[in-house]
Amino acid sequence: MYRILVVEDEQAMLLGLRDNLEFEGYKVDIADDGLIGHNLILESRHDLVILDVMLPSMSGFDVCKNVRSKGITTPILLLTAKGEEIDKVLGLELGADDYMTKPFSLRELLARIKAILRRSVGNSIVKEDTIIIGNMKVNFANYEALCNDEAIKMSHKEFEFLRYLWDHQNEVVSRDDLLDNVWGTDYVPLSRTVDNFILKLRQKVERDTNNPTIIITVHGVGYKLIN
Ligand code: CA
Repeated sequence: MYRILVVEDEQAMLLGLRDNLEFEGYKVDIADDGLIGHNLILESRHDLVILDVMLPSMSGFDVCKNVRSKGITTPILLLTAKGEEIDKVLGLELGADDYMTKPFSLRELLARIKAILRRSVGNSIVKEDTIIIGNMKVNFANYEALCNDEAIKMSHKEFEFLRYLWDHQNEVVSRDDLLDNVWGTDYVPLSRTVDNFILKLRQKVERDTNNPTIIITVHGVGYKLIN
């Protein structure tokens, strides 16, 4: 589940964004002050930050500049008010990934959020470098995998497959999601394709393949990678 931080001092806007983002399935943290927001961003626990420009304690621009100077790469979407449009360019130069001018439509905001998260998935994996899933250590950036500390062979598709599950960890993904995203919508699937990949992965990550605890089956729906 993606975790989003909203930093905004207008309470109605802050709570409205929180409720709508939660409704869309995001985990949401909020802050109504620039400095508090800044310190939360430094903890680097969020997948995306929605950051208002005009804030008490520290402006959105300063927050952005500061966290970037400290090496934080979390995507930032700036919220500017009308009349601050001149500052958009400045915001992007300071390291924001996108901006929206108030008032904006919720639909547009959600679309931007999705686009930013899609773009940043690759980066976050490179940043995380090596991940640990059960018995396995996996480096998606250079397609290396260790199982119980021994190098193992995995096909490109297996990495992509695992990566898709990892990117959607703790969410249920359907067979169709996996087929569309790993093999592409043009692919004419064999009904066992996904099941076979799941079986192979379980042999690597699970301690007991008969009782999987990491890649679990959600009957009638699909699979879930628990982390
Ligand atoms: Ca404000």
